[in-house]
Amino acid sequence: MGGPIEARIQAKGREIFGQLDRDKPTPFSRAWVTGRLMDWSMSNERLKVELFRFIDVLPSLTSAQDIAQHAHEYLTQPGVELPAPMRLVLGGSRHVPWLTAAAARQAVRQMAQTFILAETPAEAVPKLCEMRELPLAFTADILGETVVSEVEAQEYCRRYLELIEVLGTEAAKWPPIPQIDSDGRGPIPAANVSVKISALYSQIAPADSERAITPLLKRAAETGVFINFDMESSQLKDLTLELFMRLLDHPELKRSANFGIALQAYLRETEEDFERLLSWAGERGAPITVRLIKGAYWDYETIMAAQRGWPVRVFEAKSETDAAYERLARRMLENETHIRCAFGTHSVRSIAACIAHAEELGLSQNHYEFQMLYGMAEPIKRTLIESGYRLRDYCPIGETLTGMSYLVRRLLENTSNEGFLRAAFVEGADTEQLLRNPETVRAEQDGHATPPFENEPHTDFSIKANRERMTGALAKVRTNLGQRVPLLIGGSEVFTEAEIASVNPTRPDEIIGHVSRATKADAEAAFARARDGFAKWRRTPVEERARCVDKAAELLRRDRFELAALEVFETAKNWVESDADVAEAIDFCTFYAQEMRRIAEYHYNVPGETNVNHYVPRGVAVIIAPWNFPIAILCGMSAAALVAGNPVILKPAEQSSVCAARLTRVFHEAGIPPEVAQFLPGAGEEVGAHLVESAQTAIIAFTGSREVGLKIYEAAGRTAAGQMQLKKVICEMGGKNAAIVDSDADLDEVVPAIVQSAFSYQGQKCSALSRLILLDENHDRVLQRLIEAVRSLRVGAPEDPGTMIGPVIDAEAHERVLRYIEIGKTEGRLAFQGSAPAGAGYFVPPTIFADVKPDARIAQEEIFGPVLAVIRARDLDDAFAIANSTQYALTAGFFSRSPAHIERAATELEAGNVYINRPVTGALVARHPFGGYKMSGGGTAGRHREPDAPRVCRRDERGRGQRRRVSNACPV
Ligand code: NAD
Repeated sequence: MGGPIEARIQAKGREIFGQLDRDKPTPFSRAWVTGRLMDWSMSNERLKVELFRFIDVLPSLTSAQDIAQHAHEYLTQPGVELPAPMRLVLGGSRHVPWLTAAAARQAVRQMAQTFILAETPAEAVPKLCEMRELPLAFTADILGETVVSEVEAQEYCRRYLELIEVLGTEAAKWPPIPQIDSDGRGPIPAANVSVKISALYSQIAPADSERAITPLLKRAAETGVFINFDMESSQLKDLTLELFMRLLDHPELKRSANFGIALQAYLRETEEDFERLLSWAGERGAPITVRLIKGAYWDYETIMAAQRGWPVRVFEAKSETDAAYERLARRMLENETHIRCAFGTHSVRSIAACIAHAEELGLSQNHYEFQMLYGMAEPIKRTLIESGYRLRDYCPIGETLTGMSYLVRRLLENTSNEGFLRAAFVEGADTEQLLRNPETVRAEQDGHATPPFENEPHTDFSIKANRERMTGALAKVRTNLGQRVPLLIGGSEVFTEAEIASVNPTRPDEIIGHVSRATKADAEAAFARARDGFAKWRRTPVEERARCVDKAAELLRRDRFELAALEVFETAKNWVESDADVAEAIDFCTFYAQEMRRIAEYHYNVPGETNVNHYVPRGVAVIIAPWNFPIAILCGMSAAALVAGNPVILKPAEQSSVCAARLTRVFHEAGIPPEVAQFLPGAGEEVGAHLVESAQTAIIAFTGSREVGLKIYEAAGRTAAGQMQLKKVICEMGGKNAAIVDSDADLDEVVPAIVQSAFSYQGQKCSALSRLILLDENHDRVLQRLIEAVRSLRVGAPEDPGTMIGPVIDAEAHERVLRYIEIGKTEGRLAFQGSAPAGAGYFVPPTIFADVKPDARIAQEEIFGPVLAVIRARDLDDAFAIANSTQYALTAGFFSRSPAHIERAATELEAGNVYINRPVTGALVARHPFGGYKMSGGGTAGRHREPDAPRVCRRDERGRGQRRRVSNACPV
């Protein structure tokens, strides 16, 4: 872009700047304290993060002492440089006088009022009338973003309806004001409401969102209220767009021009989305409004993408977003017969570009409007209104408490290094710099160090193409079910007479495969072949072995959708969980290959002396795996042994042997000799026990229950006749994992994290949360929200992409979990029990027991199902004592916003993996080394802390897949 239009933009920009009074106080100075706080926070990045965290937690703190304590903890973190007045207030002591605590609350309330119009629609009306006098139009929005249950979603729906009702009735009485109440085509509605679809349904899925939103749209159409669909995180973008187009095609709504949608210029896909929307709008007939914004979730999008290894969907350089904004604005204006243009921006450069393009296209001022956020960019607003432009304020309505995340987002935006307002009004950047053409501004490189190992990204099922691939894979795999699955001994397929039928837990009459059942004689044959294989494999160079394992990763990646589909059928994992399991298997292969190369040889030479340290493989490794991570765990334990030069005999769990057979074939295809990777499915107590006891076995890598693990540990300690070496046992077992919710924890984050931890994959993860420890003071609040959230979970067939909870693995597990539920009824109060679909599937209703004593059986024994015991603790000391009062030590969680308490949890909680402010499941290879101690296993303890990103960016981290890793399975 350049030439005449650029000159026009520059001229327009200078004209606007000429009218702006930049000497007046900051653009957000409606409240002095807000401006001051922002000035301070801009002086030191660390201070900004801690200050905004403090602001975020403040409304949930109940006592003056608590406030003082948190202020002290946040603002005395290393690297925080306090401005003098604040230093004075804090005085280096944690006993800030109560007056200061009250003042802090007041200050935050005042700040919130800078950006939040009113607490209720009725309270908003007089303020909106005042704004109209300026004249300034409005769009009203209901605050609050994280909806964790259907009850909360219904409450939002009710509040939106109330807003529509109140505004519709009031607006009917308002005399029209030409500058804001009409455009080139005629009158436009004075009442304008912005709706977030994530607030209307807790388990967002297209069909359900439609049910929730339709009554709102119909009521709006009846009362003449304009409705705009807001855009939030990119995960919801496609869904929002689809929903918008589908709903507006309804015969009752098709003719109305009173609907709009926001598009975010920072998303790389938006230009394509716009073209799709445009062609649809052209066919529909009545125009729609597009509110073009830059996007307010940049930190969230980039951090989430980095954490999941997904491509970043937003432009990483601000100038790229600005350039896309101008291109999109042009396309909108060129098509203004179908698209009513609303430009949401505070940047003078972007505003000037919109105006210049409109003028070049011969459009008058009333063909488009500008939109800005309530409480921000006041001088720019004044200038535009005075120049006759239609301007609309985006006005949030709601309580300060629910508005905190909104407030923090606005503060982050206002103080961002790249924000226009900061540059223009705080740093006093010169006009030329502020008006630079974004196309020519060079993107600054960000300085993230490349991590040493990159996890395989999970599949993003919000992308249609991925959903289609999974649907296709499910259909394809289903046609091949029910085949006979042989043992793989050496290069031969061995079909045994006796077989074990592996069934679909959702429909037990559907056979996934008739799996051959190995006998002791088969095991002996396998040992003989493994010995032959070992002779050669041990001499195969490390690089070659590592290449084979790398190749296995590549093949798993090639087949990932089919493998995931097979898991859906055989183990009843839902899409996300199955996909995550395959991704984890890929990670294990790449990770161990990389590690083996790293540790293969170690030199410590001194003059005259050469010292070389290298690893010698031990011999036959027996890999005994559980069914709950059917490919990942078996693959991880095998890959570690293989890459180190040991032949493996894979003995999978009976319930997931068809998946295991596929994995063995992948190993062979990757070039691992068939006698080095043999497949020996069968009964654990029969062939499994024989493999463990055999004198031929050098290594046992076991993951499974404590009961079996202890037997194996003991059996491996007995010396068999003819045994030539000590057996090495890797033994990872069960857990009884606890999470503690501190009194200041952010429940919007806590509830989804608990739901995910306790109920994903039906609670059948070794890391699953089964004991929730609540403090006396927050017990009822948390429990109530949790129950509503769990009530909203969808229980059903895992093939259905919307399913969160499927059946448990088999009839035995079904009976066991139901038995524990009966025990629970005698040990605690049944606080909630969901429903389970009728039919033969092994469904267990999600169940929550409250008032459970710490020593109750359901609080001590591993249930391995969707059952959660809630335990009440007097205080934090009591909570830690309860958490540590089991024989297990696998995972633990702690939710808190007190840095001192977090520190305490990190050191005191007894668990291999301690998670702070995030779910306790979902460990990633390399990033979260996994393994338990005490009676959970011999694994190394890893500690995981959230990165130091502004906490608000981590909100809404839910519904993602799970991975885990046996940390102890490094080359043996
Ligand atoms: P399980 O102990 O019943 O079976 C595990 C494996 O052991 C299966 O392959 C089984 O056939 C075999 N086996 C059974 N009896 C045997 C015997 N006497 N000798 C040799 N092998 C025998 O466990 P599961 O039901 O498959 O898996 C669920 C359990 O696994 C849970 O307790 C869970 O916590 C645990 N688990 C732990 C981790 C971890 O990393 N700590 C990971 C996943 C699962």
